[in-house]
Amino acid sequence: MKCPNCKEELLKKQDKQFKPFCSERCRSLDLSNWLNEKNVISSEISHSED
Ligand SMILES: [Zn+2]
Repeated sequence: MKCPNCKEELLKKQDKQFKPFCSERCRSLDLSNWLNEKNVISSEISHSED
């Protein structure tokens, strides 16, 4: 299994609480990316209404 964010191979000894990410940093980064995409989409919608 690889981390979806940094593509680093996850090690079995690594903490599973961040699965499927390798760390809390990657998990939060991916979440913020996802939220940014949401914001872009919503802003585009509001622009089209203009
Ligand atoms: Zn990672």
